[in-house]
Amino acid sequence: FHVPTAINEPVKSYAPGTPEREEVLKQYKAFYDSEVDIPLYIGSEEIRTGNTRPMSPPHDHKHILGHYHLAEKTHVEQAIANCLEAREAWADLTWEQRCAIFLKAAELIAGPYRQKMNAATMLAQSKNIYQAEIDSACEIVDFLRFNVEYMAQIYGEQPESSEGVWNRVEYRPLEGFVYAITPFNFTAIAGNLPASAAMMGNVVVWKPSDSQIYSAKVIVDVFKEAGLPDGVINVVYGDPVMISDTVLDSPDFTGIHFTGSTTVFKNLWKQIGNNIHKYKTYPRIVGETGGKDFIIAHPTAKPQQVATAISRGAFEFQGQKCSAASRVYLPKSTADEILELVKKDIASFNKPGSPEDMGNFITAVIHEGSFDKLAKYIDKAKADDNAEIIAGGNYDKSEGYFIEPTVILTTDPQYETMYTELFGPVVTVYVYEDKDWGETLKLVDGTSEYGLTGAVLSGDRYSIDEATKALQNAAGNFYINDKPTGAVVGQQPFGGARASGTNDKAGSMQNLLRWVSPRLIKETF
Ligand code: GLU
Repeated sequence: FHVPTAINEPVKSYAPGTPEREEVLKQYKAFYDSEVDIPLYIGSEEIRTGNTRPMSPPHDHKHILGHYHLAEKTHVEQAIANCLEAREAWADLTWEQRCAIFLKAAELIAGPYRQKMNAATMLAQSKNIYQAEIDSACEIVDFLRFNVEYMAQIYGEQPESSEGVWNRVEYRPLEGFVYAITPFNFTAIAGNLPASAAMMGNVVVWKPSDSQIYSAKVIVDVFKEAGLPDGVINVVYGDPVMISDTVLDSPDFTGIHFTGSTTVFKNLWKQIGNNIHKYKTYPRIVGETGGKDFIIAHPTAKPQQVATAISRGAFEFQGQKCSAASRVYLPKSTADEILELVKKDIASFNKPGSPEDMGNFITAVIHEGSFDKLAKYIDKAKADDNAEIIAGGNYDKSEGYFIEPTVILTTDPQYETMYTELFGPVVTVYVYEDKDWGETLKLVDGTSEYGLTGAVLSGDRYSIDEATKALQNAAGNFYINDKPTGAVVGQQPFGGARASGTNDKAGSMQNLLRWVSPRLIKETF
């Protein structure tokens, strides 16, 4: 089958004087000065329940950006009913017709909606423009375009036939509706989870994170303009327990596409297990959850390369990536030099501030809960005998939830922040004796329950081979001589195992296959 060849959307520069910089700042101000009122999107209706919650920029939390309406149980039931009503017509469209809608959505985001997507993400998720562009312009477009290519491969994959017999596979959507629960940290992931299930012919109840509803609304606008029929993706917000209880109670629940915390995912899995007798089909359970991603440097690694991997891997995007480097193992012979270079990098970053100031490397963390958690661990490290703060360590929530990029140095490889996911700009470093390379690899593998990303930096091929073998299950995305972040759709399919998820790589054929239930048809002549 022939579909347009997917290309990664080029990243725009936003250098001073460029039109994109002017445009995004104009859009940012326009959003800042207007108050939005975001309804539930159920079937053809926009529902305003009157029970609302305010939204504020994490870097400017006294300012109100608008409100969103909270669903009652009846609205969630209505969303499910609308899914089921829309299901047949949607599943009956040819896959090419569905592709056309999502390709158009990609073009709308790459073009006329680009700065709305970016400004919404900057404002409500506190990303600087370079982070917003990578996420809410490029990555979401890449997901849509590459998924279309994978769709063509899937639908084209057919079994052999023999004389007088024609075997064919029909890639049916799942029988029921899919539940998408999406995170705040990537607008692209938020859009991709409902979209990828819908692309394969499924209908969806989508619950975005409370902290991403502002940019979720722009995604909804794009999908509508691209021609997505009413009822295919229904959007609800509100009490997450009530929403999940209602969704998972339905006999037509047929799959969950999740990105979020390990604890929530495990609880949902249990709940699905407890309800299994209610469902018409065994639900597909697809989730990407936490991470405690590592960097390990061999004594032969170049100090500057290691330092850059740490500064960028740990602090870009405020460390609010599942893939962010958060535990680092350095050899004694080069540790001081590497840490001095990291400190130099941190000193060169300006103080955490608003994304409107285009020069800010670090902005705010997402909300007060996250801020308080990070502050608590920083204070603990200041007090503990087996840890010290060697860079950063200041925080301030008077205007926004600002945390300085912080490096904790510990003498205990099992120190709490070597295995607890913090999800912020805090990294913990442990220094090992050079001769203990092999032991340290075991330590890396055994210290955390997660298995998402990791990086080994080394100039020595044998040590790279040892690390690749010893850390086989410690990371679903394993990087050699690089930082452990920044997977690009179509190039580094993303996901991990252990407590990090089901590893159904986002933006891959493997992921899309979870959203179909193939029917083999054998016809004899
Ligand atoms: N795909 C992103 C990366 O490779 C991370 C996505 C996430 O945080 O879930 O950095």
